[in-house]
Amino acid sequence: VFQLSMPLNFLGSMYRELRQSLLDMEALFNLQKVNVAIKDKPEAKPLLLTSGEIKFENVSFGYRPDRPILKNLSLTIPAGKKVAVVGPSGCGKSTILRLLFRSYDVQEGRILIDGQDIRDVTQESLRKAIGVVPQDTPLFNASIEHNIHYGNLDATKEQVIEAAKKAHIHDTIQLFPDGYGTMVGERGMMISGGEKQRLAVSRLILKDPPLLFFDEATSALDTHTEQALLSHINSVLKEKQRTSVFVAHRLRTIYDCDMIIVLKAGQVAESGTHQELVDRAGLYSELWSAQETLFVDTGNGGQGEEHS
Ligand code: ATP
Repeated sequence: VFQLSMPLNFLGSMYRELRQSLLDMEALFNLQKVNVAIKDKPEAKPLLLTSGEIKFENVSFGYRPDRPILKNLSLTIPAGKKVAVVGPSGCGKSTILRLLFRSYDVQEGRILIDGQDIRDVTQESLRKAIGVVPQDTPLFNASIEHNIHYGNLDATKEQVIEAAKKAHIHDTIQLFPDGYGTMVGERGMMISGGEKQRLAVSRLILKDPPLLFFDEATSALDTHTEQALLSHINSVLKEKQRTSVFVAHRLRTIYDCDMIIVLKAGQVAESGTHQELVDRAGLYSELWSAQETLFVDTGNGGQGEEHS
């Protein structure tokens, strides 16, 4: 029995590693930028997370040398705080998340997590520390259960269901033809953008990483579901004191953040709390007024409906 269990154990760990690399590949793929040129330094050490502070120091970056996207950008995302990055389309918001995930390296300056340059730590440890809900979550050709399970391969089925409940997708899944066994992905059942987003959030809840990034993560949800999901996410972030970054167009989803960073043409135009930025009467206040006129007050405490 002993002789037999050894190779089986070995196969088990190989299988686990293979699944883990699939997970990492998926995470990379999630940010839609696979870059094999990014390599660990020979002396790279695992990222040592202490409080979860993120710093960009004089960062310049462009996908092409002739077109800079971020220009000498410096910003601090304080440990345990909820921070939003907003600004006009194409100003570099998602790029900030891609750089943090090290899908690309900066051309100038550096990015620090708890004082460590992310180019000096192993990519594996960096990506383990980060959970992303991307703009568009690709699904595996596998069951719903598996698609959530990828968030944490050690999780039990009960934990998968618990995560789905917290992400407000459990009831929907139960209506699918085979429930959690329903096959999705290109060769499976088509599911909506909002369902995909909630699956991505379930995965994130299961992974429970110290750093959480949301890139337009709830844009396809109706106002009611979005509010319910955000309120759950907020309570988790607060309770666990996680550092989080939200990229969002709809300012109503982020106005309660501890800090809002307004980007314009690859630089910080202004930053502060919602109230500070409104009082400042700058770019944020302009964007806020423009978006607020799109809502009608239905008299239900500001939970207005958006005009379509
Ligand atoms: P949006 O709000 O529209 O999502 P954003 O502020 O998140 O925009 P980014 O996705 O960071 O903007 O992109 C910044 C700029 O970089 C855009 O002009 C975009 O076209 C360009 N860009 C993004 N990815 C690439 C890429 N892989 N190669 C070349 N240019 C890119």
